[in-house]
Amino acid sequence: MSKAAAELLTGSPLTAYSEDERMFRASVREFAEGEIRPRVEHMDEEAKMDQAIIRQLFDLGLMGIETPEEYGGAGASFFTAIIGVEELSRVDPSVGVLMDVQNTLVNNAIIRWGNAEQKKKYLPRLASDALGAYALSEAGSGSDAFAMQTRAVEQGDHYVLSGQKLWITNGNEAEIFIVFANAKPEEGYRGITAFIVEKGFEGFSVGKKENKLGIRASSTTEIILDGCRVPKENLLGEFGKGYKVSIETLNEGRIGIGAQMIGLARGALEHAIRYTAEREQFGKPIGQFQGVQFQLAEMATELEAARLMVYNAARLKDAGLPFVKEAAMAKLYSSRVAEKVASKAIELYGGYGFVKDYPVEKLWRDSKIGAIYEGTSNMQLQTIAKLITSGKQPLAQ
Ligand SMILES: Cc1cc2nc3c(=O)[nH]c(=O)nc-3n(C[C@H](O)[C@H](O)[C@H](O)COP(=O)(O)OP(=O)(O)OC[C@H]3O[C@@H](n4cnc5c(N)ncnc54)[C@H](O)[C@@H]3O)c2cc1C
Repeated sequence: MSKAAAELLTGSPLTAYSEDERMFRASVREFAEGEIRPRVEHMDEEAKMDQAIIRQLFDLGLMGIETPEEYGGAGASFFTAIIGVEELSRVDPSVGVLMDVQNTLVNNAIIRWGNAEQKKKYLPRLASDALGAYALSEAGSGSDAFAMQTRAVEQGDHYVLSGQKLWITNGNEAEIFIVFANAKPEEGYRGITAFIVEKGFEGFSVGKKENKLGIRASSTTEIILDGCRVPKENLLGEFGKGYKVSIETLNEGRIGIGAQMIGLARGALEHAIRYTAEREQFGKPIGQFQGVQFQLAEMATELEAARLMVYNAARLKDAGLPFVKEAAMAKLYSSRVAEKVASKAIELYGGYGFVKDYPVEKLWRDSKIGAIYEGTSNMQLQTIAKLITSGKQPLAQ
């Protein structure tokens, strides 16, 4: 980081927004309230994302936030993407993760690792109308992602990919996939290579769609690679360096999941504050009982702590400072807070919290995924422990 950048950062409150950030946040919130809110319940019930919402996310410029302007993106910061995910997730975490995967994983991987032709070919599409997905996990390799069985074999001017990916977010609607395959299994993880794969490539198909507990409107599917022919120019980054592409994109991506979780928690807390101000028992609003007020205060305090962690990780990343420990902590903590706050919100609604006519049971179902994808909570603890015990990222920098 330059001296000027360091001076600019020193002393800035984490939650103070620049004018651009404030305006961006207000526009995402308006969109979320006006266009997403009326559709949330139906999309959850049907387990289907409304195509009109995907179209609007593109039209509003939310699908290429960090993409440089020369490729049709907004050329904004990572932190801006984080604000977007947070605001969308406050209303619907399914929409939040759709936009999060596009920005923090797919675009990010191409911006960071793509060559000039790949950027020119794919970034404008990803910013304007093509949804992306990130295909790493398989049935037998989740936390141990590098044990993947998908193989890539060189054949003339193509690689032929064979295998099956599981749990792929946006799988149903995506056109462009970042796919990881091992092209030299005898070298272990050093054979893992990343490819840009289009839905229309020969041998590519989308398999079963999962019927999930939460984030039901976000599609999660199998991806089948049955001798899928990928032109050599679609190899992303270096041959055998796919492991690095995946580690580094996921390090950043998990700040996005943190943002999804703090957005979700805020949504649940706002519902709880509103409901407890209206619901009367013993002749007055339940929100006037100190027992209820203290619960709201606890929820708000934990949410604030989680939010500071997510914002700090994002701002560290934008400043070019080490952020991996902070990103892991932010995801770990914010997913716990989201689950707790949404659960408490159900209790504050009483019986009404337990039924689908009210919004909080959905947010609680949605919160559960935060401890699972982009590295389970145990994997975050492993990363944090490794960094603090090896001295690679000291407790206080
Ligand atoms: C809705 C959803 C969307 C997803 N989206 C995507 C996507 O877009 N792209 C993608 O590639 N993947 C995606 N995933 C996959 C997700 O990242 C994996 O599910 C996750 O990494 C965990 O892998 P697993 O399910 O195989 O669980 P496992 O790895 O089998 O873990 C099971 C349990 O064992 C624990 N465990 C495993 N190893 C250790 C260890 N060494 N020490 C301590 N505990 C351990 C875990 O913490 C966990 O509690 C998605 C999953 C879901 C459910």
